[in-house]
Amino acid sequence: MSVTTGREIHLVRRPVGEPVPEDFATLEAPVAPPAAGQVLVRNDWLSVDPYMRGRMNDVKSYVPAFALGQAMEGAAVGTVIESADEAVPVGATVLHMAGWREYATLPAAAVRVVDPELAPAQAYLGVLGTTGLTAYAGLVEVAPVKEGDVVFVSGAAGAVGSVAGQIAKRLGAARVIGSAGGPDKTARLTSEFGYDAAVDYRRGELEQQLKQAAPEGIDVYFDNVGGDHLRAAIARLRVGGRVALCGAISQYNAAEPVPGPDNLALAIGKRLTLRGFIVTDHMHLAKQWIPQAARWLREGELRTEETVVEGIESSVEAFLGLLRGANTGKMLIRLP
Ligand code: NDP
Repeated sequence: MSVTTGREIHLVRRPVGEPVPEDFATLEAPVAPPAAGQVLVRNDWLSVDPYMRGRMNDVKSYVPAFALGQAMEGAAVGTVIESADEAVPVGATVLHMAGWREYATLPAAAVRVVDPELAPAQAYLGVLGTTGLTAYAGLVEVAPVKEGDVVFVSGAAGAVGSVAGQIAKRLGAARVIGSAGGPDKTARLTSEFGYDAAVDYRRGELEQQLKQAAPEGIDVYFDNVGGDHLRAAIARLRVGGRVALCGAISQYNAAEPVPGPDNLALAIGKRLTLRGFIVTDHMHLAKQWIPQAARWLREGELRTEETVVEGIESSVEAFLGLLRGANTGKMLIRLP
């Protein structure tokens, strides 16, 4: 019997500061059968990502704001259950942007068929998807790591950061330092994610901790956090240092303008390069990254982690948890 309705998550109010469950609503909505050139997908995995917080604000950005009273968008992987396009058959595993819902009727051109033999389907939302590629692009093209560099990565136990340290090592970094929140996560940075040293920013004295971990300074900083982390990195960068400005999660819930690092003038004397980037400008690297990462995964050479919550009814909680650090590695929602 064909599916006629499915649950979807709407943004119903723009959050001010930290989002709360009341900013969202779960609705049962009609599911259209696929017209010619379309497919009907049952979502198996949904991704929640920090950038979605920015889309909840009504501001102009590199991606449009979420509309109120409509299903939100986001990356998802699912199975085609009905097809009216011969290029995408029933049973295909597909990656697309109609997440935050159980079912999606989409043009075949809006989905990408992925190979679940190469890696588990949900890996296309994490290490083989934009999060893995973000780490790779940042360290290969934006703030390129050179042989012998000392590299610092913030948000190091998260989806991007847990992979970034391992990539930096493979690119020849002599020493890789990660920062994360709390003793459990920082322990895992060194025991599992290939970091040589870990900094627990929740203990405070970030700059001091970084100085201890990298007494000679750092050459590359991969910034997922902004704020105090960016300030500490600028203080510790050596002459010619490079910064990949990837994210600033410490500021995403800020309700007031946030001051910039007060030591930015150090960038002049140290001849620093601070470069912001968006992964979608580096998609050409996917051809290199996906087969290489899939091989490393198969051979047990790349360690990844997932935090999985069950059921669409848990997706808001998963997103709110992501902003507070409830995840290690990629935060995912599995649909039954
Ligand atoms: P993560 O898996 O890293 O999850 C977010 C993590 O941020 C949490 O687990 C938490 O870890 C940490 N965090 C939350 N608040 C703070 C804070 N105030 N200070 C320090 N850490 C904090 O998410 P992703 O790996 O998906 O994304 C990481 C970063 O990369 C984000 O900033 C994101 O916006 C950015 N990004 C940018 C892309 C681009 O194209 N430029 C593409 C993809 C991601 P903890 O417990 O350690 O605090």
